[in-house]
Parts: sequence; C-alpha cells; structure tokens
Amino acid sequence: MSGAIELRRKLLERRPAMDMQTSRTCPKCGSDNYAFRSRKQIEASEGQEAMLETKYRCKKCEKEWKEKVPGVLKKGTPRE
Ligand SMILES: [Zn+2]
Repeated sequence: MSGAIELRRKLLERRPAMDMQTSRTCPKCGSDNYAFRSRKQIEASEGQEAMLETKYRCKKCEKEWKEKVPGVLKKGTPRE
C-alpha cells in the first residue's frame, strides 16, 4: 500500500533539467563571485555565425575570462 505512494512521491520530486545558464564559475578558482565586464559583438562572417563575446572578472582571484555564445547583441544596448 505504501509502496505506490512512495513511487508517486519520487516521481513528483523529480527536478526539471538543470538551467544551463546559471552554473558559471571562475575557471581559475571555481568561485561564483564574479562581475560582468563587457560584451562584444563578433560579426558573422563566412562559415561563422554571429557571436557574442562576454567578459567576466572574478572578484576573488581577479581572473578575467571570456565566453563566446552564438547570438546578436540586442539593439539599444549601450556601446562598450
Ligand atoms: Zn577566481
């Protein structure tokens, strides 16, 4: 009797897929205490789609790093 209830509870507890955008950490020290620095548009070229290059800086160890993702900067965003 309690077996079926247990099973149902387990199904309800199943979490949705992890949010891929919230797991960013410093590549050097692993800290998630970082600051957004700048964002740069990389124009599309032959065989290459438009990319957004975002720069971050770790507040803990001061490591700076960049991440590139496919995309286009939204209009109305201030210049870097
Ligand atoms: Zn760091």
